[in-house]
Amino acid sequence: MTQGKSIAFHTLGCKLNYSETSTLSRMLEADGFAKKEFEDVADVYVINTCSVTENADKECRQLVRRIQRRAPESMVVITGCYAQLKPKEISEIEGVDLVLGAAEKFNLSRHLQDLTKGSTGKIHACEIEEVDGFNSSYSINDRTRTFLKVQDGCDYNCSFCTIPLARGHSRSDSIGGVLQNVKELASSGTKEIVLTGINLGDFGKGNHGGKKREESFFELIQELDKTEEGIERFRISSIEPNLLTNEIIEFVAGSKKFMPHFHIPLQSGSNDILALMRRRYRRELYTERVAYIKQLIPHCCIGVDVIVGFPGETEEHFKDTFEFLHGLDISYLHVFTYSERDNTLAADMKPVVPIPVRQERNKALRNLSYQKLQYFAAQHTGETRKVLFESAEKNGIMEGYTDNYIKVQTPFREEYVNQLIDWKL
Ligand code: SF4
Repeated sequence: MTQGKSIAFHTLGCKLNYSETSTLSRMLEADGFAKKEFEDVADVYVINTCSVTENADKECRQLVRRIQRRAPESMVVITGCYAQLKPKEISEIEGVDLVLGAAEKFNLSRHLQDLTKGSTGKIHACEIEEVDGFNSSYSINDRTRTFLKVQDGCDYNCSFCTIPLARGHSRSDSIGGVLQNVKELASSGTKEIVLTGINLGDFGKGNHGGKKREESFFELIQELDKTEEGIERFRISSIEPNLLTNEIIEFVAGSKKFMPHFHIPLQSGSNDILALMRRRYRRELYTERVAYIKQLIPHCCIGVDVIVGFPGETEEHFKDTFEFLHGLDISYLHVFTYSERDNTLAADMKPVVPIPVRQERNKALRNLSYQKLQYFAAQHTGETRKVLFESAEKNGIMEGYTDNYIKVQTPFREEYVNQLIDWKL
């Protein structure tokens, strides 16, 4: 079943999932499917799920019910991290016809060939240890800024995280493969590429599951910096503090193409909690990284991921985290409330933090983030910086970002779309 059939996608979760859905959608269109919006009636619906989303199960069920009401005869396919983690549960949801795990996601078209509407969902999900291929992907809806996946999976074992179980071990595209994608994106008019991965700094472990490092993230960014294509900006989506080396910081400081912007997961400002989380650094290393970045690139934007309410996090630990972040020269926080995940070490750790306390801590850090962001933006008021404007228009307003990731809004002007404009802040 391909020619003349229509297909609609829905994505839950992170930028990596979005880039994968975008690539899947292009693959299926190339195979003869007509693409529809998720709210339209389509012959096939694909939901690309996430395991980090708080209510993955609930959201997935709700989406399937919506499809069933709208188009009871349509095929429903569930893929993504949650499909890999809980294939059986998902296959038992009424209305689900096919469940594709991590290894089968990119074989969607082949699986659809012989699929018929049946009473129970078929499962194609192997053990995660066997997942070792790499499929590059990129999002291309808004040509301005594209998320390019260059790495997948993770070899770390943070005690709260299901990603290694959902996506498998660390593997990567080759530098040659990345350069080829960059060329394609440049020819489609993209100006900015955000390098994306699960553990991006671990780039270079080859695309067939070897543990052996063949190339490195530092080599990748050096090669990208030399590209003559029309890409004007690269960003590094997120990099673990222990993998953000001085040579990477020095390189970005001297590069015209790599933007002054780092996103560095911290997760906790307490060394006790970092140890329980099985993170691979102590907070002193984090302080050093931030200080070195700011020494070399004073205008650099630094974003931080942090988790509140991890088991064992006392008031004292939280205060430690708060004070630590308060004193760091960073620009914004992404705050996550800890929630238990099956099959993780942390799920059995005690004492658990009551949910209302987790929520209070989340609120306190979100307030701190707001203050940090205001302060960072105020530091640059009056400067002229280059802004890349995006194509979306909302209530007559368009948005763009400076090199150091300050968001700018202005009345929509067609001639600004996908252009780098000198802008007085
Ligand atoms: S580094 Fe830790 S938190 Fe990040 S994906 Fe790997 S295991 Fe999960």
